[in-house]
Amino acid sequence: MTQLHPHLAPVFDEVLHRNPGESEFHQAVFEVLESLGPVVTKRPDYVDAAILRRIVEPERQIIFRVPWVDDASNVQINRGFRVQFNSALGPFKGGLRFHPSVYLGIVKFLGFEQIFKNSLTGMPIGGGKGGSDFDPKGKSDAEVMRFCQSFMTELSRHIGQYTDVPAGDIGVGGRELGYLFGQYKRLTNAYESGVLTGKGLTWGGSQVRKEATGYGTIYFLDEVLHSRGDSFEGKRVVVSGSGNVAIYAIEKVQQLGGTVVACSDSSGYIVDEAGIDVELLQDVKEVRRGRIAEYAERRPSASFTSEGSIWQVACDIAVPCATQNELDESDANTLAANGCTLVGEGANMPTTQAAARVFASAGVTFAPGKAVNAGGVATSALEMQQNASRDSWTFEHTDDRLEEIMKGIHDRCAETADEYGRPGDYVAGANIAGFNRVADAMLALGVI
Ligand code: NDP
Repeated sequence: MTQLHPHLAPVFDEVLHRNPGESEFHQAVFEVLESLGPVVTKRPDYVDAAILRRIVEPERQIIFRVPWVDDASNVQINRGFRVQFNSALGPFKGGLRFHPSVYLGIVKFLGFEQIFKNSLTGMPIGGGKGGSDFDPKGKSDAEVMRFCQSFMTELSRHIGQYTDVPAGDIGVGGRELGYLFGQYKRLTNAYESGVLTGKGLTWGGSQVRKEATGYGTIYFLDEVLHSRGDSFEGKRVVVSGSGNVAIYAIEKVQQLGGTVVACSDSSGYIVDEAGIDVELLQDVKEVRRGRIAEYAERRPSASFTSEGSIWQVACDIAVPCATQNELDESDANTLAANGCTLVGEGANMPTTQAAARVFASAGVTFAPGKAVNAGGVATSALEMQQNASRDSWTFEHTDDRLEEIMKGIHDRCAETADEYGRPGDYVAGANIAGFNRVADAMLALGVI
């Protein structure tokens, strides 16, 4: 572990003391603080105004009971969370995650990352995140609906288009957002489209939102490749996951001339040397909500493996799009040894700190999630703009805006890294550029 700047070490100690047992949150805070040494040296006013100590403390944390009745008439109890982390730049904004692993430490890590990600987009959105330890897998549609209605009954008191605007994340897609929005509309007796993003196209959603995180991830990596006179053409790519982010990342890589040869879910991974058939993958994972092994059963060029790591598959470019800490030190060594030259995080914090250090020392370009996957939330902000003006834009126009935003984020990260003497260091560039904008707004707003 590297040493933190003397002004930052006490901030981290306080985080450890105040948030015991929340290892993912500790990791996310450390990764940001590690980049901010040169910033506090240059800007003692940030330290004087306790910006660092304030930014690691959420403005508000809500934890609530979510009771619901399953199909066998048993009462089930889950726990719901919403962490409203920072609203210096705009209303809290960030997704909801439904997964059995969800607890306060995961919601706080995601909410903390979201502050800087949202700042990097240049749009007027603060950071927040929420979710539940509910597992939609294996539940009937009726059970998912009853859970979502109960969850929203409590959450509705805390959100609003000017307060806090949730969206989807792991386990929360179009179906869940529909039930959540339906219940909000019923409770408030108002069609307040701007209260949620990721809505369906017939009820206030935006074109490209579904594709945005995956497409945006690849637009960002395409900019990295352009900056070194290269492109996706002819590249061999591995994408982990097979959910919303992974599917559209795979589609965009293949549109740009690369071949995605492997993807995964929590049961294992498939290798398909002919290139992933996106339509088949969508049918297996989105339509039938099945397991990835079914893809291999239906496609002769593919094989399924439940043992080992997807990162053993040799590639030029690796794009982790599943979940936090899915790529560890040994995976990073394998990727580097197999000739991988670029890793871009489609998921949030999928790379462990030790793995990121391997990439840095092996000369593998590493682009962090808070910059790379910001296209999802940026398009959510475009959805909010359309809702506010009661307008709806075409796919082409929205996609052009997304591409332009991702190019802007790339350039902001690269220029900031240069300015702080860390050329090519996208982690430092993203953390510093994201932080500075929030810190300036917090200074302007006074001690609140
Ligand atoms: P989905 O629920 O659509 O898909 C998640 C995928 O990851 C599934 O294939 C799932 O497999 C797999 N997965 C989940 N947990 C694990 C695990 N422990 N081990 C292996 N695979 C796992 O989620 P999203 O695609 O929306 O989100 C993926 C990542 O991207 C998350 O980190 C999320 O925070 C991040 N992200 C998402 C955004 C969005 O707009 N959706 C925006 C920005 C970031 P299985 O089907 O077996 O569960």
